[in-house]
Amino acid sequence: MAGRLAEQKKKGTVGEHFEKLREMAGRVFDLASASDLLSWDMQTYMPPGGADGRAFAMATLASLAHELFVRDDFGETLEAAESEVKDLDPDSDEAGIVARLRRDFDKTRRVPSDWVAVSLRTVGLAFNAWVAARQASDFAAFQPHMEKVLGVKRSYVSFFEPYDSPYDPLLDDYEPGLKLARVREIFGELREVQIPLVQAISERSDAVDDSFLRLPYDEQAQWDFGLDVIRDLGYDFERGRQDKAPHPFSTALNRGDVRITNRVSPNHFGSALFGSMHEAGHAIYSQGIAPALDRIPSLSGSTLEGAHDASLGVQESQSRMLENLVGRSRAFWTAYYPRLQAVFPEQLGDVEVDTFYRAINKVARSLIRVEADEATYNLHLLLRFEIEADLIEGNLAVADLPEAWNSKMEEYLGITPPDDRRGVLQDIHWSIGLFGYFPTYTIGNIISVQLWQKLNAELPDLEAQISRGNFTELVGWLHENVHRHGGKYEPMDLLKRITGEELNAKPYLEYLTGKYSEIYGLS
Ligand code: ZN
Repeated sequence: MAGRLAEQKKKGTVGEHFEKLREMAGRVFDLASASDLLSWDMQTYMPPGGADGRAFAMATLASLAHELFVRDDFGETLEAAESEVKDLDPDSDEAGIVARLRRDFDKTRRVPSDWVAVSLRTVGLAFNAWVAARQASDFAAFQPHMEKVLGVKRSYVSFFEPYDSPYDPLLDDYEPGLKLARVREIFGELREVQIPLVQAISERSDAVDDSFLRLPYDEQAQWDFGLDVIRDLGYDFERGRQDKAPHPFSTALNRGDVRITNRVSPNHFGSALFGSMHEAGHAIYSQGIAPALDRIPSLSGSTLEGAHDASLGVQESQSRMLENLVGRSRAFWTAYYPRLQAVFPEQLGDVEVDTFYRAINKVARSLIRVEADEATYNLHLLLRFEIEADLIEGNLAVADLPEAWNSKMEEYLGITPPDDRRGVLQDIHWSIGLFGYFPTYTIGNIISVQLWQKLNAELPDLEAQISRGNFTELVGWLHENVHRHGGKYEPMDLLKRITGEELNAKPYLEYLTGKYSEIYGLS
């Protein structure tokens, strides 16, 4: 038996059932990947008139993928493949594929297809209502839709009983294995440190001047500079491209085609560059997944996707690492500032590198999450997490949402939104049924620093390498430890494998406090 397995391994096959499973999963993947491409096009080049037809096409592909995935013969093949891989090393790619498909299959089978159809219709209408309500800053117009979306989510949760909290199954869709109780503890630790930190910074807000970042900066030059940087970081343009879109995002159609989008602000240097670096972090992850894991779909929320990663939090750890730990560091700008000055001599010729470093790290208490800096970002998420957990657990009525939002903004950030457009209506997530999604941004921040500590322990020369513009060992380490495994391991298992630790907010808080105390001269 061992001989046969070794023989099959050499040929790259485990057994006929495993091969059949791969092929069946591959067909699901192809549909999901095609739908992802339609979604990318919808957000980049599609003329506005295409919206209705596109929505039908995407819904058809999504439901076909779902149907193929939950078929009885898929389950039978999965079971047969499980017995073929049971003697393999559990860390092997084959065992990982089967385990991941089992998890996603069991979850998907619990969800009746009627629910999927109702859910798609409900969020479709809610999304349209949200777009109009946000524009008009009219929460009351969105409220009945929000109530319906919440109802749909509650019935979804009921498919996964028993649970400690009804929020747990929602969180599990994006961060498998994590529970509400743990996230509450983590956010509690963050709250204790970050609220006073931001408060202390705001009392010294004139310590950092970033006015020179708000001069006119040529759009094409900004775009090209960002492309040079992410090429240096290791984003492979033979297997990717960057296009313009209103919001930066990354789409992995397959390992050979991982696209990113970005936008440029002509009067603000930084948002385009850091947008590119952030999305490149996501894309380099997807480009680095082992070929053995090709054409395996994965479940995110209740949707099958082409992307095959460990979780949203692990994804975000990669993007935040390149954007913040690399891109907003002194070491990085030691290498890149002279080049940037050469591109923008009028704006930056007389600005010292340290002045520039402080400016790109300026902290400001602002209303909008997507514009928030590193120090305030988690507070925006803390508020959203607390509100959505209360909604799902039945401790907050939808009608009371704007008030809850505004009072938490006041409490955590010391500012009150002048209207709902810049308050409770600003994010798309709830309108399209994404509950349990927001905490993953913060989980990503935390994981990024846990990985960074490990990286620096194993590559003591890392900072010096970065200050020479050399990212080979950094990205090589991430490929080997994170990227290549794709969605083979559950996120908390992957973290433990790499760092030997559970999810832990302390390294992140130490990093944040150390960095900003130095910049703002806090004692
Ligand atoms: Zn991201």
